[in-house]
Amino acid sequence: MRTWKAILTAALLASMSAAAQQAAEQQPSAQPPAPDATQTAQSSQQATPATAQPAAAQAASIAPPAPSPAPTTMDQVVTLFIEHEHGLIKALATRTPVVETYLQNLTADPQLGPVPSADHYFLGRMDMGETVDRKDYLKEEDRSMQSRLLGGFGKLYKVQYQPLGFSWMVYADRTDFDREHYEFRYARREFLGDVRCLVFDVTPKPKSGRGRFLGRIWVEDQGFNIVRLNGTYAPAPRNAMFFHMDSWRLNLIPGYWVPAFIYSEEGDFSAGVKNRLAFKAQTRIWGYDLKKGGKDDELTQIRVDSVTDESAAAQDASPLQAERVWQQQAEDNVVERLTNAGLLAPDGDLDRILQTVVNNLEVTNNIDLPRPVRTRVLLTSPLETFSVGNTIVISRGLVDVLPDEASLAAVLSHELAHIVLGHNLGSKYAFNDRMLFGDDSTYQNLGFKHIPEEETAADKKAIDLLKNSPYAQKLDNVGLFLKALQGKAPQLGALLTTHLGNPLAEGGTISRLSALESQGPALDNNKLDQIAALPLGGRVKINPWDDKAEMVKTAPVAITSARDKMPFEVTPFFPRLARFGTGASAPAATPTTAAATPNTGN
Ligand SMILES: [Zn+2]
Repeated sequence: MRTWKAILTAALLASMSAAAQQAAEQQPSAQPPAPDATQTAQSSQQATPATAQPAAAQAASIAPPAPSPAPTTMDQVVTLFIEHEHGLIKALATRTPVVETYLQNLTADPQLGPVPSADHYFLGRMDMGETVDRKDYLKEEDRSMQSRLLGGFGKLYKVQYQPLGFSWMVYADRTDFDREHYEFRYARREFLGDVRCLVFDVTPKPKSGRGRFLGRIWVEDQGFNIVRLNGTYAPAPRNAMFFHMDSWRLNLIPGYWVPAFIYSEEGDFSAGVKNRLAFKAQTRIWGYDLKKGGKDDELTQIRVDSVTDESAAAQDASPLQAERVWQQQAEDNVVERLTNAGLLAPDGDLDRILQTVVNNLEVTNNIDLPRPVRTRVLLTSPLETFSVGNTIVISRGLVDVLPDEASLAAVLSHELAHIVLGHNLGSKYAFNDRMLFGDDSTYQNLGFKHIPEEETAADKKAIDLLKNSPYAQKLDNVGLFLKALQGKAPQLGALLTTHLGNPLAEGGTISRLSALESQGPALDNNKLDQIAALPLGGRVKINPWDDKAEMVKTAPVAITSARDKMPFEVTPFFPRLARFGTGASAPAATPTTAAATPNTGN
């Protein structure tokens, strides 16, 4: 039990001592508000896929709360949002969403300001029950990440990041969010997006314990639910600190605002300040409504297929046909399994855009495949593509940072080349037993990395495809993107660490489409119209409830200095809040042409 306490404590903090665990044991009182240690131990022991998703078998939807009478005083408002916060915690208690944290350490650059010096990546599932538990998908890499991090700091101070620490502010206080522990002071009214909010300052009462929420909350003025939290936890124990966080919720289901984004930032770059801990981190939560993907599903849902086989030939498949059907079976298995694990967005609007680009490449190269090429979006941040059968998968993070349609075409062309060249890898996944694993071991069970010879061949073919395509005149932009990526590759090892496909860079050097890297103008930070790569998060919008992906429509913002470019960087979140069903959360219209608008100035 002592161990669990220590882990929980450590999870909340970035301990600035030699070892977080040690510090935590010295500071048992730093334990966050009263999670039941026994329950924690139990839920943490539930390592099997069957128990990892307790809610999945239940009805997918959550009944909206009963409407409360309109408050007439601020005191009644406080009563309502406290009540609704507890209602939300209860409503989501059985959910196990995917949670991803991507962190960039910062160092000061005289021209560019704070820039990434190293990065770290965490991906896991969060049990939203009373005892918050975050299971990581990347257990193996986690260890090396930590050791790398520990090695990268000064001898006196070492920092250990604990993934759960970044997702702690999904709620203000899981157990004691009430008037006994907190003072609530009304500050003002403010619009967040389309939603009018009442703003309250929240301070822990004296002697209410360590690790209490300290900051500000925004409460929407119709249902009186918290939609944003901004602050930290206090008091912090010696040798450790709590992160500052800005936590946003979205009205994705009637009556509830669901935690979706958390931004954390530490560091002070003013003159004379020594920075031992400077970073910025984005935490994204999605997959609240995941369908069960494990073997239990098949036992409880007996499918009755009344559909007869309508294939044209009323005879056995020829050897080649059999091979193709087999590959398609493997492809379908993988796509379904990744979707069920919350790693792949369901087929949607963004895929229409990606398929338009693939189609442009196919048509101009007279490619005629027996089955159409499909695309899907991997929901994670690391920059990666891979293909399985005729499905090309591209990560959300990669779509985000690509500056224009030609660059998108370039990364897709590599995978299209694998398909055209018949480099099919996935056929072993046609055996269904290979799909039976826990979601958190997806990365250990699936992999689509090609041998170096196939990578070289695919790059060569990809460049041929691009030169025949409508993008032939815009390959300078691709070269510029690759140069920008090369420039940042040594610092962004985690962003460039792929989990399913081949990496874009090996050992800090760009390997993907490297022949195009020499193309185009030199990288020049001072040229404000030269946008080689975008920050993360600018293009793709994910619905955290159903995982649907769509292109963001944002008005371009003028770049006024080299510091505005922020290629590959994380930035704070500022989602445009809207109430459920009021259009802003409705899917974007399907464009008729690729909407990845070229916005580079060269
Ligand atoms: Zn490849």
